[in-house]
Amino acid sequence: MSTEAAIRYSLDGDGVGWITFDDPGSRANVFNPAAQAALDVALREASSTWPLAIVVISAKERIFIAGADLKWLSALSDAAAATGFARAGQRLFQRITEVPVPVVCAIHGACAGGGLELALACHWRIASHAAVTQIGLPETSLGTIPGWGGCVRLPRLIGVKPALDHILKAQLLSANNALATGLVNELVPVATLRERAKAAALKLIEDPVPSRPPPAAPMPEFFSDLRESVRARTRGHEPAPLAAIDVVEQTASLPVREALEIEARLFGQVTAGDVCKNKVQVFFLRDAGKKRTLDGWFFAAAKNLSAPKQTDIANRLATAITRGQGTAIRRVGVVGAGVMGSGIAQWLAARGLDVVIRDVQPEFVERARTVIGALFEEAVKRGKMAAVNATDGMERISFTNGWDGFETCDLVIEAIVEDVAAKQELFGEMAAVVKNDALLASNTSALPIEEIAGHVPNPGRTLGIHFFNPVSRMPLVELVLGRETSAAAAQRALSLVKAVGKSPVICRSSPGFLVTRVLFFYLNEAVRLWEEGAATAAIDTAMRDFGWPMGPLRLIDEVGVDITVSIFSEMEHYFPGRFTRTTACSQILFAGLKGRKNDTSAGFYRYAGKESLNDPETRRIAGRRGELALEPAEIEERLMRVMADDRGPARDGDLVHRQGARPDDE
Ligand code: NAD
Repeated sequence: MSTEAAIRYSLDGDGVGWITFDDPGSRANVFNPAAQAALDVALREASSTWPLAIVVISAKERIFIAGADLKWLSALSDAAAATGFARAGQRLFQRITEVPVPVVCAIHGACAGGGLELALACHWRIASHAAVTQIGLPETSLGTIPGWGGCVRLPRLIGVKPALDHILKAQLLSANNALATGLVNELVPVATLRERAKAAALKLIEDPVPSRPPPAAPMPEFFSDLRESVRARTRGHEPAPLAAIDVVEQTASLPVREALEIEARLFGQVTAGDVCKNKVQVFFLRDAGKKRTLDGWFFAAAKNLSAPKQTDIANRLATAITRGQGTAIRRVGVVGAGVMGSGIAQWLAARGLDVVIRDVQPEFVERARTVIGALFEEAVKRGKMAAVNATDGMERISFTNGWDGFETCDLVIEAIVEDVAAKQELFGEMAAVVKNDALLASNTSALPIEEIAGHVPNPGRTLGIHFFNPVSRMPLVELVLGRETSAAAAQRALSLVKAVGKSPVICRSSPGFLVTRVLFFYLNEAVRLWEEGAATAAIDTAMRDFGWPMGPLRLIDEVGVDITVSIFSEMEHYFPGRFTRTTACSQILFAGLKGRKNDTSAGFYRYAGKESLNDPETRRIAGRRGELALEPAEIEERLMRVMADDRGPARDGDLVHRQGARPDDE
């Protein structure tokens, strides 16, 4: 028995062999070459000790097996190497299937990708009910397919249609949903998992799992319809879901060994392709985002100082950051109960924070109550939250058109209209009602923080916490550091952003920060094309075909035509000569079209009933018919170029700050 290996084998006094995944160098178990070698050794040790039954288990607190090491996957040089990778894993798992005694998989914690494929190769699966138990095959979301038997064994276990549904959704399921879907056979409390897995393994000696007939073949049009819907959803950009459909269609009625060979070949093709490589790279970037710290953000200013001074500052910063880490945020006030305020309040309350939300008129407050209720309902419907948790979350929110309840907040997030004067006035008001040490944050899309909040007492606690729309679906949050923002305040906010499951991007308080600075050049250019006569549908279709989830004009409706108009004007103000704002949105707004506000209004599209183009109305208001015929490639080139265009650093005077903010802070 090896103690340092990622997997160990032992035989207990009742003759049950235990294969325990417990990578000594990590909090997680993943499959990498060392783990595969260790599993090979464990299986050989098992066969030499003649156990009556075997249990496969993890010793980690939160992870069963998180899947294959993606660094290994992304290093596969070509299709042949990737096919070889699949074959090697398949062979290992096939050995588990062929073990002549019962093999039970005991799952507690994340069981993803290769982890579930290992479980599928076992004869029986028991999982803990714990919230950390999340089970599934997420491979297609990474541009690949389950290649260690997942596409072959899952249809045989739960049927072709449910298996493809699971593989294409690429989501991890809670223990309850995994049981309902048939991924596991039983659920037990975590405290009894070992004991129950052992009992099940011993019972299977007498009473083995009967062998299953091959899964029933669906009608042939099932596969063609599914391909069609995948192509429509992915605009033909994603080969992996189509490859998964091919594997399941071609292999469902074949003997397992032949089926595995087809799976390995198709796995090789998609995994060696650019889409998979890029998606894995995005995964790494997202992962890095979760680990982002404030290192370097506050210390940079001290570079010119003497060594002892630098050490002194570094020590003080470290203390401030530790203090920030130690003062958790539990209660949040949100001011402005519109699209963003409602979304932010719901997201925070759903993650256990107490929230009070305020708007100026009682009817706006009531509207927010309805919108937030609907967001909770949607989360339940999408399987993101249990109904009981949604009820609890809703109860954690109080609604007001006054300031009651704000005096106990640890943080207040302002999400009112995008207007400097209104925000400045509000920050003054907020500072007068909240605790002295409560953080004061703005959700502004573009305005420098010191400009809207620099005047409050103790401005070190001001910063931007910029969520994106819709809050429930957008992972990114910009943490915007103003000139006055203290390290402790920044750390408190960063800890909160991470704790509520968002991916932080840290930026200085330069106009537009990061996302608006790039995105609104793009949106403005799309409107310019529209003003020149390109049709709404032509612009939006071209950009969706390029890969955007939504066309730019449709996105303006989603952001709000009013917000877009404000931001265009801010960008022109801050970047004169570089950004010339288009005017069609102002005209549309003047005629009362605000975009997709409250699901019912209109902008470039109409939202009452079935969503449809609103061309006759918008063209009547903003002139020019859709008569400029452009090739999709021309539209793509023009709109993508404006974001990538590198005209070098800002020219002198390019960046204008209100109230004398310093350009060198950009
Ligand atoms: P919205 O128009 O939907 O909501 C603003 C709300 O603030 C309204 O209900 C209004 O009544 C209320 N309000 C105005 N003055 C107030 C005051 N003094 N006190 C309390 N409430 C007040 O706007 P939104 O789209 O939610 O945007 C809010 C902020 O978030 C803006 O700064 C915007 O730039 C930013 N933002 C918007 C988006 C987006 O896509 N809409 C995305 C990210 C950030």
